[in-house]
Amino acid sequence: MNETDRARFKKLLEMRREELSALSSGSADARKPVELDQQSVGRLSRQDALQQQAMAKAQETRRIAEAHKIEAALTRIKEGEFGYCADCGEAIAAKRLEINLTTELCIQCAGGAQQ
Ligand SMILES: [Zn+2]
Repeated sequence: MNETDRARFKKLLEMRREELSALSSGSADARKPVELDQQSVGRLSRQDALQQQAMAKAQETRRIAEAHKIEAALTRIKEGEFGYCADCGEAIAAKRLEINLTTELCIQCAGGAQQ
């Protein structure tokens, strides 16, 4: 991976990190404990409110997991390991990285499976 590609992927990773943190603060309200007060729940039943809160929490958990992967990828960029398969050491195709910025495996080692 050359310097230009490295800089480009670094930028993409940083942008995604920003996006995740914006999504995370934007949904902070949705993750708050459900209040019994009917006024704050509005027309939604408490059951619906609880379901929405659970969904918001699950999304946040996924965002946190992705944010960790992004941090790890940024570390690999710093160390010059980004773009190389963690298993076989071969370069990972740029196309694959564009689709999944945080992948650590080449397509062969990932067994062609979505990861
Ligand atoms: Zn590999």
